Amino acid sequence: MADKIHLLPDHVANQIAAGEVVQRPASVVKELLENAIDAGSSHIKLLIKDAGKTLIQVIDDGEGMSTTDARLSFERHATSKIKSAEDLFLLHTKGFRGEALASIAAVAHVELKTKTEMSEVGSIIKIEGSEVVEQEMTVTPKGTSVAVKNLFFNIPARRNFLKSNPVETRHIIDEFHRVALAHPNVGFSMFNNGAEVFQLPASNLRQRIVGIFGSKTNEKLVPVKEETPIVKIDGFVLKPEFAKKSRGDQFFFVNDRFIKSGYLHHAVLAAFEGLLKDGMQPGYFLFLEVDPKTIDINIHPTKTEVKFEDEHSLYAMLRAAVKHSLGQFSVAPVLDFDRDKNLDTPYEYKNKPVGIPQVEVDKDFNPFKENSGAGQKNISFPFKREKGASWEGLYAGLEDQNKIISKEFNLEDIEFESEEVTGSLFTESDTFSSQNTFQLHNKYVLISVKSGFLVIHQQRAHERVLYEELLRNITVQEAISQQLLFPLVFTFSKKDVKMLESFKEQLEFTGFAFEAFEDDSITIKGIPSGIKDSDIKHILDHLLDDLNNDLPDNGYSQNDVLAKSMAKSLATKTGVALGKEQQEHLVNSLFACKEPSFSPGNRPVFITIPIGDIDKKFY
Ligand code: ADP
Ligand code: MG
Repeated sequence: MADKIHLLPDHVANQIAAGEVVQRPASVVKELLENAIDAGSSHIKLLIKDAGKTLIQVIDDGEGMSTTDARLSFERHATSKIKSAEDLFLLHTKGFRGEALASIAAVAHVELKTKTEMSEVGSIIKIEGSEVVEQEMTVTPKGTSVAVKNLFFNIPARRNFLKSNPVETRHIIDEFHRVALAHPNVGFSMFNNGAEVFQLPASNLRQRIVGIFGSKTNEKLVPVKEETPIVKIDGFVLKPEFAKKSRGDQFFFVNDRFIKSGYLHHAVLAAFEGLLKDGMQPGYFLFLEVDPKTIDINIHPTKTEVKFEDEHSLYAMLRAAVKHSLGQFSVAPVLDFDRDKNLDTPYEYKNKPVGIPQVEVDKDFNPFKENSGAGQKNISFPFKREKGASWEGLYAGLEDQNKIISKEFNLEDIEFESEEVTGSLFTESDTFSSQNTFQLHNKYVLISVKSGFLVIHQQRAHERVLYEELLRNITVQEAISQQLLFPLVFTFSKKDVKMLESFKEQLEFTGFAFEAFEDDSITIKGIPSGIKDSDIKHILDHLLDDLNNDLPDNGYSQNDVLAKSMAKSLATKTGVALGKEQQEHLVNSLFACKEPSFSPGNRPVFITIPIGDIDKKFY
């Protein structure tokens, strides 16, 4: 048999390596930004086009490369950062594998321009799929510019695998945030499709955080500082009242490198114990400095995990440091780190609702609406179905009912996540014997039907009703909006403004009307009808939480998340007393829904208690 083993050509090996290093445009952004940091730059500029699919360019004013180095930098295992395996343990640079540029050049069109301080002229190199197509002298300022175009041009499968532009842009912004936060002493700017997204001058950490997350962040920051022989801790946590439902604003940096660590996260959570409502997540920006010899940075290029030599001590110190800060800034009354948690009294603000900024607007005056919704306790959208529609009609058969509604609401166009209900819960003969409803514990609405009675979860029922209504509005693209006399202005982080802007159209179909998307604020001139303007901030915050937590890729599911989130914030909650009419309206609207049995979160909306079960109790 002939010999069968041969060495893979370099460009093939590079493409394989690229699979590991370059997963999406954001991975390229990370590598290029880190190279610019390693080059000792004082200002780094990131340019993105088409979510990085068309162009990713990083321009720095760092040390640059000689002509020979410029060419070598694209070779695999070409690095100036380590010479031997031992150096790994003393590493202070970001990169060290010498694989990033080679990998990127294997799957894109790359143009590198670079010049060192000393040389008169610089070099330009163009590489397409590992092939050098041009190398020349050029006039260029000191520093390096790497332009990566048409990522995955030669791997269509990978290109098709990329997510929608908003999703890929979000990943890029996340990487940008991580690098920019880790290096506040370096200036950064970012441009997306020609528009400036961030302009972050060299500053300190506090200013950097504020530059990224918006001016309102400043007053939320509580400094954390601690120095022990094992670790130096520095940074900020957000005051507990600014905790969020999402894990968005949580950053650990170890030796200026962004890392993820469930263990350290737990230490911070433990420090916040008793200060947060259930399920709320604290925000933090914490920098740990340890001897590089005591950590093992995962050699995998894209992983952000780190192993520490003395995890337990680190945990205890981090927890104590955060707790101490919360105490010192009279955020928490506990200064004693090791006290028994059973002795802790519940803090006053534990149950304090998060304040919603109140806007002074004469709510009763609305020139565009005959009947102002102000002061109305429960929010409901105007339903086309008439109030008091006959119960018999509703229960004559859900199948038919669905058809009628489908026609009216165009629901065929909408695909619901949960399964189609059948009418099986109700028998043919299952009609309401009376229209009387009854509210139990401000939580359930009871209504008797022939076969027994229904117990309806009022909050979930309303969520279902609103969800279908919202989804319908977004899908068929019509909205009922109430114009505001005075536009509302809300402050958000730049990232959140971008996120909301990418949902502008869908939000407009729910009834929002926007006047402007500014740098870190949004001006709203119209809101969904029936909603109070004082609820808007809360609704948008909740929506951002949900979108940041889980942003699906395709438009349809994005609309679904949006409708779910808004339905949830708008729904009349458990605990609200409903008048007879409201109860009846809720039941009517619920059974006009396509899928009345389950809430948008797929929980049961109502149960039936058959008369037979009651009879059995009276044996
Ligand atoms: P690594 O960063 O792991 O060394 P890379 O493939 O990212 O590997 O880069 C290879 C080499 O190219 C680096 O070691 C560095 O010497 C040089 N290099 C890359 N980017 C820059 C830059 N922006 N400025 C100066 N030198 C750079
Ligand atoms: Mg590198």
